[in-house]
Amino acid sequence: MCGIVAYIGNKQAYPVLIKGLKRLEYRGYDSAGVAILNGDMRVYKRKGKVKDLETYAKDKVTRGSVGMGHTRWATHGKPNHINAHPHVSGNERLSLIHNGIIENYATLKEALIKLGHEFESDTDTEVLVHLIEEVQKREQLPIEEAVRVALTKVVGAYAIVVIDKEEPSKLVAARKASPLVIGIGDNEFILASDATPIVEYTQRVVYLNDEEIAVVNKSGDLQIKTIDDKIQTPFIEELDLNIERLEKGDYEFFMLKEINEQVKTIADCMRGRINAAEGWVNVGGVTEYYERIANAKRFIVAACGTSWHAGLIGEYLFEELARISVEVEYASELRYRNPIINEDDVIIALSQSGETADTLAALELAKDKNALIYGIVNAVGSSIARTTHSGSYIHAGPEIGVASTKAFTGQVTLLTLMAIHLGYKRGTIPRSYYLQLLNSLENIPSQVQEILDKNDQIQYIASEIKDATNALYLGRGYNFPIALEGALKLKEISYIHAEGYPAAEMKHGPIALIDENMPVIVIATNHSAYEKIVSNVQEVKARKGKVISIVTEGDKAIKEISDYCIEIPDTDEPLTPLLSVIPLQLLSYHIAIMRGCNVDQPRNLAKSVTVE
Ligand code: GLU
Repeated sequence: MCGIVAYIGNKQAYPVLIKGLKRLEYRGYDSAGVAILNGDMRVYKRKGKVKDLETYAKDKVTRGSVGMGHTRWATHGKPNHINAHPHVSGNERLSLIHNGIIENYATLKEALIKLGHEFESDTDTEVLVHLIEEVQKREQLPIEEAVRVALTKVVGAYAIVVIDKEEPSKLVAARKASPLVIGIGDNEFILASDATPIVEYTQRVVYLNDEEIAVVNKSGDLQIKTIDDKIQTPFIEELDLNIERLEKGDYEFFMLKEINEQVKTIADCMRGRINAAEGWVNVGGVTEYYERIANAKRFIVAACGTSWHAGLIGEYLFEELARISVEVEYASELRYRNPIINEDDVIIALSQSGETADTLAALELAKDKNALIYGIVNAVGSSIARTTHSGSYIHAGPEIGVASTKAFTGQVTLLTLMAIHLGYKRGTIPRSYYLQLLNSLENIPSQVQEILDKNDQIQYIASEIKDATNALYLGRGYNFPIALEGALKLKEISYIHAEGYPAAEMKHGPIALIDENMPVIVIATNHSAYEKIVSNVQEVKARKGKVISIVTEGDKAIKEISDYCIEIPDTDEPLTPLLSVIPLQLLSYHIAIMRGCNVDQPRNLAKSVTVE
């Protein structure tokens, strides 16, 4: 959440910042601002999107080769011009951008007010820039030292960049529990919340670690020290990121591009990990820690949002195929309830960004209890990837649409590979079934394409139900988490209230909501308990609900009683979620478009949730 970008070098900073902010806009988009240094420090801030800032700054002076920019997702204080970042110190010497939350801001603010500081905004962030000013004034320190000393007094999470007008050839940055990447160019540095604004200037990056402060300057120097004043040697890594993957190409929205990319991203996730013809599957992270993973007493999946739904599918997969007991936890709940975690547990963290604050904190807690920590993430080099003992990347490429699609199927693909790998090696599935699953898995990408080809039909169904105010999603077994995911997708981007339910649970409550205005989306591709789900659909029809069913090609019974029916190709039941989620993604997308919503940047949401 919140996008940070900063530049120092020989180029004009402003265009680099604006371009960078547009790349980072998926992280927050309620207001944006820049500070540019050129003798004077000029700060321009606007409520709204980066393009509103651009329009505002069009006739303003933006020259200067040192600067920084911010796109905000408000935590403290309304989204307006005043609360937008950068925030400036009382003496107008310093400016600061921040991603995170300063938890003890109220106490600090009170103390600073007593010392005569006056505040303009309602943010926690403004307190930090005043605190640095106070330390700098009192102790006569160079800016990096003032930042370091000030941060020793701060509780919370931050990635910050600070500019000091009196020390115009340097930028100071620091992080704790919020990401910050430093791109190293030829006598220039680009600092950002993730690598997307950096990649077109350089492939060489340093990921700043927690509680580290970096100083970059115009002569090309980079120095890093810890908050407790220990010099660190920067560890330079090469990026593996392709600019095309950051552009929308011919698509109007990233979400649609990303839905369509799943044919390739699922295949990419499997590449080098499976070969059906040769009969093997190998997930590197599992092989590396095989003994501990295969002999784990239980797996605990920690995740949030869509990743939590992927985790639920993992529960079905691991329990059925590998006979390993699984608990799926909201990371935010797990971390605060004094959970029982033992050395023989394996904690699997699922996160697209690899920066999700709650998931990261749950991992730290489990690590302290000596459990094995396994990460399944998309963003290479992210905090979770670097915190875990072992793990696997899903290789979906940057996901920019706020509503997760290809990262979800990537996570499910990876969990499926792990479950098959473990199931076969532990002897809990016979070789014949194992080979059948491998074959079926290799067919998934082409089957996803077959579903994508039904886009027109799905668009038509969307037009029929787009005016609903509520919707119910029902599924059983592997399709229950898909019902949850389908409902979440609809809520997120179209603002229609939707609930996902186990189909059989409907009669314990939600059935009371059903009438002729209520679309009920039933995911009914099941091989097992098929008759049961037919009965559930009958129960909906008996109350005049409008049924949209997702069924397996050739289905008769459910198709006959549904108002609308989308047929998807058949596969082995454990692999169904990889197919059944696709029509639901498209359905939500089309409904949201028809309702005039911005599907890539839905209201109140942002990607990469780095605050608790
Ligand atoms: N707490 C800061 C604000 O509300 C930054 C928010 C964030 O990083 O999401 O302005």
